[in-house]
Amino acid sequence: MDLPKLAIAALGGTVSMLASHSAEGVIPAVSGEALLAALPQLTELARVNVETLGLLPSASLDFEFLLSVLSWAMFQVKQGAVAVVISQGTDTLEESALFFDYLWPYDNPLVLTGAMRSAAQPGADGPANLLDACRVALAQNSRQRGVQVVMNGQILPARYVRKIDSLALQAFASPIVGPAGLLVEDRVRYLRPPDPRTVLPLPQLTTQKVAMLEASLSADTLLLENIVALGYDGLVIAGFGAGHVSQSWMPEIEHIASQIPVIVATRTGSGSTASASYGFAGGEMDLIRQGASMAGFLCPRKARILLWLLLGCGQQGDLNRFLKAGT
Ligand code: ASP
Repeated sequence: MDLPKLAIAALGGTVSMLASHSAEGVIPAVSGEALLAALPQLTELARVNVETLGLLPSASLDFEFLLSVLSWAMFQVKQGAVAVVISQGTDTLEESALFFDYLWPYDNPLVLTGAMRSAAQPGADGPANLLDACRVALAQNSRQRGVQVVMNGQILPARYVRKIDSLALQAFASPIVGPAGLLVEDRVRYLRPPDPRTVLPLPQLTTQKVAMLEASLSADTLLLENIVALGYDGLVIAGFGAGHVSQSWMPEIEHIASQIPVIVATRTGSGSTASASYGFAGGEMDLIRQGASMAGFLCPRKARILLWLLLGCGQQGDLNRFLKAGT
């Protein structure tokens, strides 16, 4: 039987980490090829092209590198791959998933995975996650779903997936919407139809800078006062509650929003920002009046990804339309 072609890229992360001496911590060391050696079952499912594109902790990935990974993945599809799987560190998985999702132009699945336990740890979850990710990528019903994250038996959509625990095995969730699907006895079972997607053009610019600040009790305005002068092209605020800031921040926000895009998201970890509920100074209605945009269900980090990409393709003027499209 002619098996489908599957492309797999390894970028590093805990899934690839080992310690050379037990007293030292783990570092990325295991290539993609070596990761697959633990998965002989895969040879019955697909003809695999695996490449190690990086061996980095995911905190050290950046947008430029992700663009090069994206162009590798697009090339694989052009060469006949039915799907692409990328393994990386989990610390920034929620961000790279959305980054890829906004730019992935194909119906072919692009699936991201990683591990919470390093390669030599008892009960390492990397091999199971990688095999699950391949199963999801190869499933016919995964087409037209854009980028998804597969971790611990769950299929989580790029737009909503979040790392919700620092060390637990069950570290990923998509608050409010829940998983898009599950692996049940190795079968890919979706719980709902695909969500509508937004695909952006590839960024022409990559030098734009988007700052992110979290609102916190009794915070001063020193950083805010300097955002524009420091050369930032956009600002994301992780706001209180439904997307709020202290009234003491408002004069600065008004000044910043008259020059660069400002998005206010919620710092709570779940739920949407409001748009028409609170009328106090620093509330969302005041922020909108002063020119800020509300992030809706996008968490602060994901709102920053959207703004960076829009600035990169010159579509920041449509920011509110793109934010609304996802709420
Ligand atoms: N703890 C991380 C991981 O899961 C380290 C990283 O993000 O690279 O891979």
